[in-house]
Amino acid sequence: MRASTLLNRVFTFTGATVTAVDYPGHGPVTATVKLTARTKLSCPHCPFSTTASYDTRWNASSWRHLDTAGTPMILKMLRRRLRCPAHGVVVQAVPFARHGSRFTRDFEDLVAWLVTRMDKSSVSAFTRIAWRTVGAICERVVADQLDASRFGNLVNLGVDEISWRKHHNYLTLVSDHETSTILWGSAGKNAATLDKFFSEIGPENTANIQAVSMDMGAAFIKSVKANAPNAAICIDPFHVVQLGTKALETVRRAHWQRARSLPDQAFAKKYQGNRYALLKNPGTLTPTQQETLEQLREDGGTLWEGYLLKESLREVFAGDLEPEVVMAMIQSWCDAATTSGLGPFMKAGATLRGHIDGVHAAVTRGLSNGKHEGLNNKIRTMTRRSYGFHSPEAALALIMLACGPVEVRLPYKR
Ligand SMILES: [Zn+2]
Repeated sequence: MRASTLLNRVFTFTGATVTAVDYPGHGPVTATVKLTARTKLSCPHCPFSTTASYDTRWNASSWRHLDTAGTPMILKMLRRRLRCPAHGVVVQAVPFARHGSRFTRDFEDLVAWLVTRMDKSSVSAFTRIAWRTVGAICERVVADQLDASRFGNLVNLGVDEISWRKHHNYLTLVSDHETSTILWGSAGKNAATLDKFFSEIGPENTANIQAVSMDMGAAFIKSVKANAPNAAICIDPFHVVQLGTKALETVRRAHWQRARSLPDQAFAKKYQGNRYALLKNPGTLTPTQQETLEQLREDGGTLWEGYLLKESLREVFAGDLEPEVVMAMIQSWCDAATTSGLGPFMKAGATLRGHIDGVHAAVTRGLSNGKHEGLNNKIRTMTRRSYGFHSPEAALALIMLACGPVEVRLPYKR
């Protein structure tokens, strides 16, 4: 086989043919291409196409493509401009690259596949592109793949906020309990953030929603009441359990602060070291942590009392109990907490009582964000991976790539 025949067979691009290949002996391999159906010029934003070019000017464009035998490859093409009735004068679209990208579709699909599976520096090293550029690629691939059909037939949803970039920014995520996928996300965590979701899915899809699970914050409750008044507001059991954990942490910190002001610093160290022993589930404690816990039990006092309260709230949801039993246990927990004399637990008991209808709705429907443990872990991993991205939109795109109804395929054709 002649070398030129080989290259023509190997370099196949959707809707384009190679007219020349150049390699100066260093740097990238450059392939010049032309479109197969070159009589028609297409708008990059809509299906409009025309045979008339806007002017006689050629626009020199280039795209990074998949490596060829370990060498980077660049596609080059001269493009015309056209006038679209809707979008004005635009440079013609090409079938092998997304609009506004300096990379081919194949290259972007490869990056999107890698970034959901590999850590940051490995992706950058393997593809030889900057991490910020990876974020922009994620955004384009997701925009290309997601469509509004995912909003049809929604029944039970979950909404939650996650912090992005060391607690300075928040992202709101809407999940589907049925499929365990993330459907939608946006920067922010207030009622207006979630309002955007409802306006995007429209009144018809909103009317189908039967229940939305969430935390006890006022923002999401407000938005669901205003936009989907027929949907039941469910307080997610995970956040109920968290109420007890947070109250215990407040009690522990108060002990630690007090001990720190004492002349003997050994006491303070003790309260610092017992944090994990107290907050972890007893089933996952290390031998040292078990010992710490045993010591706390012997010491007794308010910290141990708080620990028992936290554990009894967790146990309510740990077993597969009947809804009536669960609700009765929660009621008696609220009684025990509000009369415990421990400030943080009295507050937690009152908060929980205020949301008892929402807890009941979640328990009877069996809705819990905790059931989607695989999804939650994936979200955490992707969120951490997206810290170096320049925008929350890029972080959301990575989360959608890994956790959304998006199927990223490797660009390998054979
Ligand atoms: Zn157009």
